[in-house]
Amino acid sequence: MQVHNFSAGPCILPQEVMQQAAEAVRSFGPGGLSLIEMSHRSKEFVAVMDEARDLAKSLLSLPDRYEVLFLQGGASLGFLTAAYNLLPEGGRASYVDTGTWANNAIKEAKRLGSIDVIASSKATNHDHIPSFEAPANGSYLHITTNNTIFGTQYAELPTAGIPLVADMSSDIFSRSFNPEDYALIYAGAQKNMGPAGTVFYAVDPERLGHTGRDIPAYLDLQTHIAKDSMFNTPPVFPVYVTLLMLRWMRDQGGLQAMQERAAARSKAIYAEIDRNPLFVGHAAEGSRSQMNATFRLADGVDGAAFDQLWAEAGISGLKGHRSVGGYRASMYNALPLESVEVLVQTMQHFEQHHG
Ligand SMILES: *Cc1c(COP(=O)(O)O)cnc(C)c1O
Repeated sequence: MQVHNFSAGPCILPQEVMQQAAEAVRSFGPGGLSLIEMSHRSKEFVAVMDEARDLAKSLLSLPDRYEVLFLQGGASLGFLTAAYNLLPEGGRASYVDTGTWANNAIKEAKRLGSIDVIASSKATNHDHIPSFEAPANGSYLHITTNNTIFGTQYAELPTAGIPLVADMSSDIFSRSFNPEDYALIYAGAQKNMGPAGTVFYAVDPERLGHTGRDIPAYLDLQTHIAKDSMFNTPPVFPVYVTLLMLRWMRDQGGLQAMQERAAARSKAIYAEIDRNPLFVGHAAEGSRSQMNATFRLADGVDGAAFDQLWAEAGISGLKGHRSVGGYRASMYNALPLESVEVLVQTMQHFEQHHG
């Protein structure tokens, strides 16, 4: 039976990407070497890294001077890396608290300087993107563009008089944005662009080197720029699978196509959440995520039959995060609309037979 994978991450990947990835583990380089047993300095792997970098830059329409890196440590190390590279000794930066990941970014940045939390949605369990006055001072404004756990997303990305820094882990490559607004973008690959094991960085190198800090080598983005993401042994397999996913997104029609697919999927699921009296959405209208739809059962509804129905329909990964409860349908780039249609039919079936 086909699996409809709504997992919040690691994410669904297209079947053709899986097949090519499996093939590369069997045989990739000269004489039939596996991708995972050959040198990262081989011309075959250097070509993988170069193509992944170039394709990411072109899909996101990054200006020429921007650098793209594929590193390790996940977005969780990105929280610290961002502050190390952009927050000067004794400096200030502004952060928006839109949920668990935003909070982790704040915690890490506080190790290095003064952090102003200029807005928070904490009081309502992060059910919306709070409005705020964009700061005019400070080194940067940090935002989490999509809040994976709570299912909220900036409908309009903010601009400020200072550079933006963004954790785009769970919505990168799903919509276009103006890269010139950003000093740094980082994203764990496993939400929307590949498997776990690598983290994507896009950085404006003109913003680097001004903190006055002695940055540990691995945390210094300039180290990795100088070495083309090969300062240490790169995660060859995750980078290769990410390249396959980037090619797949390009062949589907790039960001425009990803954006249209995301809009169609989220429209279908939210229409059903709003229509079906047995379900209640978590995120407020205007802040709803196109990537992660969070919802729960209406008061007094027993969900045991629903849990059985969706499992029988081949749906996987629908349980909500413990901090929100209920359900979360994560609809990343590779998820076909058909999977959302199966979920919607299952919700309707539940209403007809158990409502
Ligand atoms: C999952 C997630 C993270 C953490 O990513 P890791 O790669 O596991 O460190 C950070 N930010 C957002 C928005 C996420 O969804």
